[in-house]
Amino acid sequence: MGLRTPQQYKDSLKDGRRVYIRGERVDDITQHPILGVTCDTIAAGYELTQSPDAEVRDLFVAPHPVTGEPINRFFITPRTKEDLANRTKMIQRSIELTGGLPFGKDIGTDCLNAAFVVAGQMKKQKYQENAMNFLEYLRANDLHTCGAVTCVKGNRSKEPSKQKHPDYYLHVVDRTEKGIVVKGAKIHITSAPAANEIIVVPTRQMREGEGDYAVSFAVPANAPGITFICRGGRGQWTPHEFHGERPVRELTEAMIVFDHVFVPWERVFMCGEWQYSMLLAYTFATFHRFTAISYKVPAVEVMAGCAVAMAKYNGLFNVSHIRDKLADIAGYVETLRALANAAAQNPVMYGDIAVPNPLITNMAKLHFANNYHQFVKLIQDISGGIIATCPDKKDWENPEIHEYLEHYLGGAEQYSTLDRLKMIHETMRHVCSHESAFHEVTTVHAEGSMAAQKMMILAEAPLNRYETMAKRAAGVEE
Ligand SMILES: Cc1cc2nc3c(=O)[nH]c(=O)nc-3n(C[C@H](O)[C@H](O)[C@H](O)COP(=O)(O)OP(=O)(O)OC[C@H]3O[C@@H](n4cnc5c(N)ncnc54)[C@H](O)[C@@H]3O)c2cc1C
Repeated sequence: MGLRTPQQYKDSLKDGRRVYIRGERVDDITQHPILGVTCDTIAAGYELTQSPDAEVRDLFVAPHPVTGEPINRFFITPRTKEDLANRTKMIQRSIELTGGLPFGKDIGTDCLNAAFVVAGQMKKQKYQENAMNFLEYLRANDLHTCGAVTCVKGNRSKEPSKQKHPDYYLHVVDRTEKGIVVKGAKIHITSAPAANEIIVVPTRQMREGEGDYAVSFAVPANAPGITFICRGGRGQWTPHEFHGERPVRELTEAMIVFDHVFVPWERVFMCGEWQYSMLLAYTFATFHRFTAISYKVPAVEVMAGCAVAMAKYNGLFNVSHIRDKLADIAGYVETLRALANAAAQNPVMYGDIAVPNPLITNMAKLHFANNYHQFVKLIQDISGGIIATCPDKKDWENPEIHEYLEHYLGGAEQYSTLDRLKMIHETMRHVCSHESAFHEVTTVHAEGSMAAQKMMILAEAPLNRYETMAKRAAGVEE
């Protein structure tokens, strides 16, 4: 089939999948007021590969490495730092061009790239072939994937085999000649209800005796036994909001229940090799955090822009304490950008696969998460209380009160009241809304908690070198 159109992607979702949201089963998710937004957000990614603009098409479409057929560039396994830099560029441009993150080929291929690395390390040719055949299937059919890693986990202090029941971590319950049967639930899975394929990776390191939990595979979203239970999202713009011309972009997360799901052996990438579960979880986390730090850059650029614009609309751009805060805001954004670029430029090679630099990637993700709330605070501070109390678009449109708003809600004279109100509403969405609270939590947890990043920084940082240098300086013998 090759590259699909947005409509072909949407049509593919009418496949009998079992999706629930707000207590109701949805037959056609493309028509649902919340899930439809997710489908449109992902479909926008399919527009990029069809773009009439050659520069855009060349970025998102690449020749198949063997046949030369046009395929989505996300399906190119990174072999060089240029491949990694292209991934960053694609992710960032997709946000700039569509207003949202189509996000699916990114996280799916993060999983698959990790599976390739680990299959190589295990020297299991069968898994390598399975991963390769599955990649070819994705390439040929231009499929949207989600990455299902996070298990529901029950009591966090207990290992999978020591929990109250065995299903808090996804595991194998049966093995037959044809395949495996799995049971469990993955949670918070971004864009899951609108994916064609689910790629499963273990959520953590498994230990001896936990081989059934060391399992990785791919399964179609409409496979028997799979149910999606989605979070309620925001849906389309309401008539009360000032907004630009772009539609709302959002990707709904879901809990995916695997109730005795059959997976043929050809689609299994790990089954029982608990010794390699840590490498798989670790490598996935590195690829995925690299995706994260790439997409966070344009996200925080828009927010920083709100601070700059609000400072100007309020007539405070040249005031010293405001400039001091703008310097902190710019420093936050540019540190993230510099680290994201450095992670791509200093890959670690596993065989012929380029893995983004794990130390720098985790430092970047930690920098982003650890300082995000402070960044938000600065934007809130510069913008003023109006971002919490601003009248809405319906007030502006009501002739009985319009003049009051026009007269009293102006700012610096060179800007219109309407433009100031539009910017207030944009800022509000980013730092004072249900959506912004969602992003504050997402920043802390999505792509792993800060403790997970610190663990990887400690594993990767040259602590011995630091110690040796200190001992040398102190004149202490090794
Ligand atoms: C919006 C959003 C989108 C996401 N998208 C995806 C996705 O597409 N795919 C996917 O697989 N996952 C996804 N995630 C999940 C994300 O990776 C997890 O939220 C993250 O790994 C934290 O896990 P948790 O939410 O279960 O929190 P918890 O594990 O409950 O963590 C809470 C706190 O407890 C600490 N903690 C947990 N266990 C231990 C322990 N054993 N010892 C010491 N401290 C511990 C953590 O460090 C953290 O500080 C998403 C999350 C969000 C919020």
